[in-house]
Amino acid sequence: MAVKGILRAISSNASHDASPAPVQDGLTQRVEILDDIERSGINWLWATDAENRLIYLSASAADSVDKPIDELLSLPLTDLIADDPDNPEQKSDRPLNFQLSKRSKIDSLVVGLKPQMLERQDQPIWWMINAHPKFDEAGDFQGYRGNAKDVTIEYQRKVEDSRLAQFDSLTGLANRHRMNHRLNALLSAFKTTNRSCAIMMLDLDRFKYINDTMGHLAGDELLKQVALRMKKIVGNRGEIGRLGGDEFQIILPDIDDRGKLGELADKIVQIVSQPYPIEGKNAVIGISVGIAVAPYDGIEQDELIRSSDLALYSAKNSGRGQYRFYSVELKNAEEDRRLMVDNLRDALVNDQLELRYQPVVRLEDNLVVGFEALMRWMHPTRGLISPDVFIPIAEELNQINQLGEWALRQACHDAIKWPNSVRISVNVSAVQFADRKFPEIVLNALVQSGLEPDRLELELTESVFLGDSETTDNTFKILKDLGVRLALDDFGTGYSSLSYLQSAPFDKIKVDKSFVDSCTQEDENSAKIIAAIIGLSDALGMETTVEGVEAFDQFNLVRSKGAKYIQGWIYSKALKLEQIEKKMGSGEFKIAPDGPELHRPDRRTVFRRIGAIHEDHRYDVVMRDLSKTGARFEGIIGVPVGTNLVLDLGEGQLVVSSVIRSQESTIAVQFETPLISDGAGGLCTRHRISPYELAAAGMPLAALPKGRYPLANAASSGKNPPQFTQVSLGKN
Ligand code: C2E
Ligand code: CA
Ligand code: CA
Repeated sequence: MAVKGILRAISSNASHDASPAPVQDGLTQRVEILDDIERSGINWLWATDAENRLIYLSASAADSVDKPIDELLSLPLTDLIADDPDNPEQKSDRPLNFQLSKRSKIDSLVVGLKPQMLERQDQPIWWMINAHPKFDEAGDFQGYRGNAKDVTIEYQRKVEDSRLAQFDSLTGLANRHRMNHRLNALLSAFKTTNRSCAIMMLDLDRFKYINDTMGHLAGDELLKQVALRMKKIVGNRGEIGRLGGDEFQIILPDIDDRGKLGELADKIVQIVSQPYPIEGKNAVIGISVGIAVAPYDGIEQDELIRSSDLALYSAKNSGRGQYRFYSVELKNAEEDRRLMVDNLRDALVNDQLELRYQPVVRLEDNLVVGFEALMRWMHPTRGLISPDVFIPIAEELNQINQLGEWALRQACHDAIKWPNSVRISVNVSAVQFADRKFPEIVLNALVQSGLEPDRLELELTESVFLGDSETTDNTFKILKDLGVRLALDDFGTGYSSLSYLQSAPFDKIKVDKSFVDSCTQEDENSAKIIAAIIGLSDALGMETTVEGVEAFDQFNLVRSKGAKYIQGWIYSKALKLEQIEKKMGSGEFKIAPDGPELHRPDRRTVFRRIGAIHEDHRYDVVMRDLSKTGARFEGIIGVPVGTNLVLDLGEGQLVVSSVIRSQESTIAVQFETPLISDGAGGLCTRHRISPYELAAAGMPLAALPKGRYPLANAASSGKNPPQFTQVSLGKN
């Protein structure tokens, strides 16, 4: 292909002021130089006509294209090359097409050859092009004159570098830098369009343990597999990042349905907690999740991240392997917790701990066959604190060994006065069990109290198997030799491996309360699981105790599934020592079952100030109980059955409901749509009223009180007089 035509075009400007004499020679020389340059590939030349169709391309440039040059000429330039959407340096507002249509100068633009031009699809080619538009004397556009250069190697390195700067090389997930950038961009875009965005903070449980015991390579492999599982679950609903270590984050644009978020988090917890086959062994970890949703839990990025961190922290502290939504109460609870940490150190010294005893009853004849010792903390200012709250703190503060030892001694000491047929069960935390001195502590408690070893039953959870297996095996062996009994607690809630049952010498399995809670609901598998656990332990020659039976429907169901021992409120709550001694006297202790006919799922007694909105009036009321489908509250008189009310549960949670009972100031309502679990054992609405909507109703965003979004347009000063009488509510 001759260079002359194009050369004439290129040099036409320059030739104006070129001296006429050596034109011929000069031209020949230039042609030669240009031919050399073109051939060398240092730079290629190209030109287009006024329609931007290719009229010239260096022959050596055409070589890298899988088409004969004749076919290329007259093709639109944009059939040959295109922008790379992933170009990390692309000034996105000035793509190739745009520049061509504007006829502007093209300056060092990297473009890719179109796939159909490539010899091999898997070997992309990148050119850097420069060009300037050419106009004739009348000012009409004549086409582009440009050069091009293959920059494939440099460009791919740059893309790779930028990928590395944005992605975590181990898992391929986005890194902290990219996640921050993405979240920031999303939140500022969504702010103007009133869209919501959820984030999840995730942290692996026990990862450090795997890393320490199985080595870093195994730890890395585990992280990769965790990332794969998460990607599968999240799919294209959001972007997952690894922020560092065993910390992950997921950004979920346009999701504010707490039901869906809860389901997603739950799925992640379930699937990530399945064992990982690594180096021929099974590694088991867990994951905790904290969730915050913009704009409800934070409008700016740092606010939202702080909220999700707090939610994660709370999930970790309430037993791990759980998810939590951010709520204002969490913030208060966190302050409470900090105070408690200080006080717990002194609880034992100051005699603030107490054991309560809950009867275990033989169903056949209502005979009390044993008691489970349950620890209570009588806090001087806060009153009774539940072990669910302080045991995890004690574990974290390394105080569980002392508390546990105290419980063991106290329980043995108390039980020695009971009839010989009555056993005592003591809970043992996995941290305690992992202590080499544990068997010795058990022995001491037995010796000092004089209790027969087979009257002492230790309740262990599956988490004891996550410790060092040599120590675990050894401890099991010594305990068995001592003659104490072993019960596997909370069975079915963790990683319920049958191999544990085979390898460890348990005498009893305790069926977790969560199965009993749901066993009478139609769509649940719980009844089947209960039957299976009972069948299994029968087959293995173990006993079973079913925990948490409260109502007769549950009682009858578990009885029909073959349960022989029950521990639950239907027989008794945990009692003080004096209460038992009084009832037991010296003889047999029997209790008849007594409780409600039907178990009412999730109905809990609450005491919370909320708002009840009717027309344009907001009444202050106190909620007494709350279930998924309804609530009971006090505070207004004269509300007819059938009245529609909107309950304001705070933080933008509005529930449309209708009155089903009304007696003096106590009103029961049924919700239009049921509440959902908030992950923390409480309930919340699926959706919230966004602060933007409130702002639209006249409240500026900046003026919104943190975390509380009372309904702005339903102040008590409406145009019409209130229809119901507000009664004043007591101080507490
Ligand atoms: P757990 O070992 O599963 O104990 C059973 C829990 O269920 C007890 O809660 C008991 O009061 C409750 N419960 C029993 N029947 C019913 C029922 O019918 N309805 C309802 N709603 N609840 C029922 P508690 O006493 O609050 O203890 C909570 C957990 O704290 C225990 O769960 C145990 O894991 C731990 N814990 C208690 N005492 C100790 C201790 O001395 N050492 C250790 N390491 N952990 C303890
Ligand atoms: Ca227990
Ligand atoms: Ca239990």
